[in-house]
Amino acid sequence: MSPSKIRFSELVGEQTRAEIFATVLTAGPISRTQLAQRLGLVPSSVTRMLPPLLEHDYLREADTAPQGRGRPQKMLHVNPDKHIVVGMKIGPAQVSGVVTDMAANVLARAEEPIADCTPKTALSAAAALTSRLLSEAPEAADRVLGLGVGVSGHVDSASGVCRYSALLDWNKVDVAGPLREATGLPVVVNNDVNTLVVAERWFGQGRGVDSFAVVTVGPGIGCGLLLDGALFSGATGLAGELGHLPLDPAGPMCSCGRRGCLEALAGDRAVLRHLQDAGVPCATISEAVDLARSSGGSAQTVARSAFAEAGSALGRGLAGMCNLLNLQKIIIAGEGAVAHDLFGPAMSQALEAHAFSTAARDCDIHVDPVRHDLWARGAACLVIRDAVGAAIS
Ligand SMILES: [Zn+2]
Repeated sequence: MSPSKIRFSELVGEQTRAEIFATVLTAGPISRTQLAQRLGLVPSSVTRMLPPLLEHDYLREADTAPQGRGRPQKMLHVNPDKHIVVGMKIGPAQVSGVVTDMAANVLARAEEPIADCTPKTALSAAAALTSRLLSEAPEAADRVLGLGVGVSGHVDSASGVCRYSALLDWNKVDVAGPLREATGLPVVVNNDVNTLVVAERWFGQGRGVDSFAVVTVGPGIGCGLLLDGALFSGATGLAGELGHLPLDPAGPMCSCGRRGCLEALAGDRAVLRHLQDAGVPCATISEAVDLARSSGGSAQTVARSAFAEAGSALGRGLAGMCNLLNLQKIIIAGEGAVAHDLFGPAMSQALEAHAFSTAARDCDIHVDPVRHDLWARGAACLVIRDAVGAAIS
């Protein structure tokens, strides 16, 4: 069915059904009444939405023992064994993946280094890793729901095409097609930070938060958005390119080929360039972190100011986002989040200074240095979400 043929009520139904599933998954066992309360729905809406989820055996409802003098209550829970799902993240140096059950419990995990990140190499490695992961669960071979893949950059999830990724140097790369052909599985592709948004929403800091952003810091600045309870991808999947917010027309060149983007001012390369310019060259960002945390000396002062400058730029970017979207929470993640002690104070200060009205006060900042398989687990959740949402009677 083309998107234009989908009626609005069906879209609302899909999203609500996926939210019901996610809530039962994270808060279950849960009664229908509790579920309605949590989702802010009238109980009759929950009752109307549940039948396909129960008929497809995604959810089950069982009596629990009465507590005290109360009657036994019917409680909903996820049927974890209905399917297994593969989730994967394609990065510039490796592909990493997990197999999960329907409750997104990780059953197996594996990763595969890649010699280069050309589409051919990366997609072959992703297909091989899928086979390897599934071979660890041979008894579930006929229950595989699908493969979810997270890729950096501008990903059109409707077509499964990565339109552009500066990090991978990809242009119009069909990700879903070759993987579908190689694995024989339905394939869902999305931006990798969006997979983190789903994981945070289901299991992490985004639980119960309707409008939040996940901002990843490190070599690049990534961002995924959940607005009013729904993953927000924009018209063609491009939404959330916070890293390419143009902040300084005279600033340094960015990986995207433009000048003065947030990423060019706050990413790892900005910190290393600052150190280089001050005559304290560091080969890697972890060397810069060590230097900034070392005790005393002018090199440490330079390193600390390099991180503070990056933090300040990041804070201005976050202020722009908070002013635009009035977010409840920003989750700072990614490999660079471990240096939050170094860039965090300047980031918060700049966010406060540039926020309009209560935009900064309304928004909690939470640092969540990512557990490694959360990306791939989130990609598996996207497959589950789509399947559950599509379970329309
Ligand atoms: Zn840029």
